[in-house]
Amino acid sequence: MTTISAATECPRCGTPTVSQLDATAWCPSCEWNLEAYDAGRSRPVFGWGWVDRRAHRLAYRMTREHFDRLVKRPIGATGAGAARALTIAASVLLLSGVAALAVTGAWLAVRSFPSLTLLPGLALLGVAYVLRPRFGRLDPELEVLSRQRAPELFALVDEVATALGAPAPQVIGVDGELNAYAGQIGLRQRRVLCLGLPYWGSLGPQERVALLGHELGHFVNGDPRRMVLTQPAFRTLGDAADLLRPMDTGHLVRPGVKPVLGMLFSGSLLERLGAALGRVLLGTLSRLFAAGHLVLVCLALRESQRAEYLADEMSAKVAGSDGTARLLDSTLRLESMALAVRRESLAGHGPDRWRAAVAESLAAAADRLPQLRQLSVREEASLFASHPPTGLRRQMLASRDWHDPLVVLTEARAERIDAELAREYERVRRQISLR
Ligand SMILES: [Zn+2]
Ligand SMILES: [Zn+2]
Repeated sequence: MTTISAATECPRCGTPTVSQLDATAWCPSCEWNLEAYDAGRSRPVFGWGWVDRRAHRLAYRMTREHFDRLVKRPIGATGAGAARALTIAASVLLLSGVAALAVTGAWLAVRSFPSLTLLPGLALLGVAYVLRPRFGRLDPELEVLSRQRAPELFALVDEVATALGAPAPQVIGVDGELNAYAGQIGLRQRRVLCLGLPYWGSLGPQERVALLGHELGHFVNGDPRRMVLTQPAFRTLGDAADLLRPMDTGHLVRPGVKPVLGMLFSGSLLERLGAALGRVLLGTLSRLFAAGHLVLVCLALRESQRAEYLADEMSAKVAGSDGTARLLDSTLRLESMALAVRRESLAGHGPDRWRAAVAESLAAAADRLPQLRQLSVREEASLFASHPPTGLRRQMLASRDWHDPLVVLTEARAERIDAELAREYERVRRQISLR
């Protein structure tokens, strides 16, 4: 027998509380208890229950306050100075620190060569090398398209870029992810746009324009994650923390960063010394760096979130507010989208059927959407989220002027774009059916 819990009423306004996906109930009208931390449904961030609970409460409050601040005024490409200035200052400081390490290391290594300072000199050079500024590379999974190969897609991207007043990407590619991104890579900061075909193929025409508008918006919205000058703030301290972390906590090391100091000490006699040092000195330093990193990233991510709101606004201007709103609603339901795409792919169907299936499941969920939007504010609020919760992005959009589309993608044109990518779609479809 199923037990039906008695309908409870909101203690604040008396509205019956609601729940979706077995989440802790909240009030749909005044949002009482929406801030609750759902231990069963959230992924642990720090691993200790009480810390995660507090972090969530802080994140929820900060995300809300940030929203309230932005909702009342126009969102500019550069936000209120403090967070941004701090990110830039920290980046400059970190870069100088790394440069100082390199210079000291080189000096120790060559000074009255060969001498006893050679080893520490080389070690410092090694550290500086690991912490060096990096500008990203093209993802090897990305299948780069040429204009000849996909003229319709390139024309659409150009059209959206012109309407936005944003520069067009220099590299356009596709991959097999349920995602899309725009970024700048390499020293020359080449602009890259990647469209995950399962995602792109599942979106309706105007949502595709909205997606392009949002992604190309990232080339002009002042997102600190994508600026050369502020990138060190997001990486260096975290890398330094990983580098100094004693070997036994190696599972926490982020991919690509090896604890070199740990390795340096893995000789026979030096090993024991290194292990002792590792636990005391390096461990402490590592934690200090990690803490600094957390604070910095957390601050800088407020700027990122502002940039996301702005990208949504640019998206609405070019695709029309309806298209952007639908795009945001579909990101609320990525899991169902993935299921629909997989089911259709297994049955041998391509993007036309993906799109129909996704639209159908979105329509079937229409009644639940307002509550899913609310729930996203609870579940997506995080100190480390680069994006504001989808529900708040949707609300921000609704609070702005409603736009008609500047670029309209007709069904016929959307189909022509899919047709020129038929080969890539088929490869992705096969990948999905094998997963
Ligand atoms: Zn209420
Ligand atoms: Zn974005």
